[in-house]
Amino acid sequence: MSKPHILIFPAPAQGHITSMLNLAELLCATASFRVTFLVPAYIHRRLSQHSNAASRLSRLHPIPNDRPHEDIRPGSFDVKDWLDSFRSTALPSLRELLADDEDPIDCVISDGILSFVLEAAGEAGVPVFYMRTLSACAFWVYFCLPHLIQSQELPFDCDDLDLPMVNLRGMEGVLRRRDLPSCCRHGLDSRSMQTIMHQTVQTPRARGLILNTFDRLEAPTLDLIRTRIPNLYAVGPLHAHLRTRLTATSNSSSTTLWEEDKTCLKWLDEQPENSVVYVSFGSIVRVTAEARTEFWHGLVNSGKRFLWVVRPDSGGTEVAEGGRGRVVGWAPQEAVLAHPAVGGFVTHCGWNSTLESVAAGVPMVCWPHFGDQQVNSRFVDDVWGIGRDMKDRCDRVVVEKMVRDVMEDRSGEFRRRAGVLAKAARESVVEGGTSYYDLDRLIRDIRDLCNTA
Ligand code: UDP
Repeated sequence: MSKPHILIFPAPAQGHITSMLNLAELLCATASFRVTFLVPAYIHRRLSQHSNAASRLSRLHPIPNDRPHEDIRPGSFDVKDWLDSFRSTALPSLRELLADDEDPIDCVISDGILSFVLEAAGEAGVPVFYMRTLSACAFWVYFCLPHLIQSQELPFDCDDLDLPMVNLRGMEGVLRRRDLPSCCRHGLDSRSMQTIMHQTVQTPRARGLILNTFDRLEAPTLDLIRTRIPNLYAVGPLHAHLRTRLTATSNSSSTTLWEEDKTCLKWLDEQPENSVVYVSFGSIVRVTAEARTEFWHGLVNSGKRFLWVVRPDSGGTEVAEGGRGRVVGWAPQEAVLAHPAVGGFVTHCGWNSTLESVAAGVPMVCWPHFGDQQVNSRFVDDVWGIGRDMKDRCDRVVVEKMVRDVMEDRSGEFRRRAGVLAKAARESVVEGGTSYYDLDRLIRDIRDLCNTA
């Protein structure tokens, strides 16, 4: 029996690459699949430079591109233009790989926002699995958007964003208008809304859907998704899953596109346990100078130590370091969250960051910006009870209050619940755990497909 050859194809953004690269590594290491990981040339260069994960794959294949797709900037950024332009750059390389008789592809695992892969692979007769790099709860919300429109709950005017949603199955009483993905605030004609809805409703056409989450975190939502997409694999948290399955071959894996400043770990070593607030808004969000000032005052007024990631490309003014604060351009986030000195995480609630915090048992203060972040932050606060959601409010008083809540006033309750979920996360990725089982099932299903092809 020859080794199955899988093509893994993420959308070109850090958050998507992180989790799909973790899955790629898992499939190489545990199933001995051959994996070709397809990325634009500029990401290929950066991964080769900064990530050790890339060298462990069978093949990191560059898409020659004349236009980088790294300009994901909320505000000026248009999802449809971004996807259209990526499609026209990527299709020739994708078709070439799918038609290669010398080294045939047996199966594709595609990012679930790249529906053109379904068409191209369909023409070549190659089966496709989808992976979405967001939470199950956010996926379900996107999946239900057509129903919300049909039941006339969408569009809404934004005068009363606190009204609860009533037609969102399974999330009645949890989500308010303000907790829906940000595109819902811009009316039905919003190109982002149309695009993401169009991509999401295609999901049942794939052989199955892979999500980076785990059963004990999102069981009710996973059950709801299964009613529409029965073949669902919840294999997360992938970074933790990779760590447990790779212990025999290696000890650390990095998926980063930027150089990590590891000196902050030494600084953390010198700080007392649970004393530091880690502040990072991921790889895309731009923080205005005004918001940055409010965060700075809020953090300083809270009296807590902080480690703050200010990306060189994130705009705004420099943040002053003080005796209590440390600023870096890009942090080794997994190691930072796992450090005993870190007691809280001020985050934009991108799904990777949220899940990394859950797995490390670190309570959060959430300042979501766009997309699924609005949904994730509501779940952190209202459903999982492991942090505070400061969405739509950003002033120094709110920042100070919420940081104090998480680090001091309510830290006991948040830490206790975060500890329970972190334990559940660990248990899900070891033998006998649900994510462990689902990964094995995925591997088996891919093998069966290849053997019957
Ligand atoms: N990240 C990192 N160092 C940083 C900031 C972020 O390694 O200083 C990583 C983080 O661990 C996560 C990813 O970048 O895996 C960000 O993905 P997420 O989904 O949280 O947010 P996005 O960047 O897509 O908005």
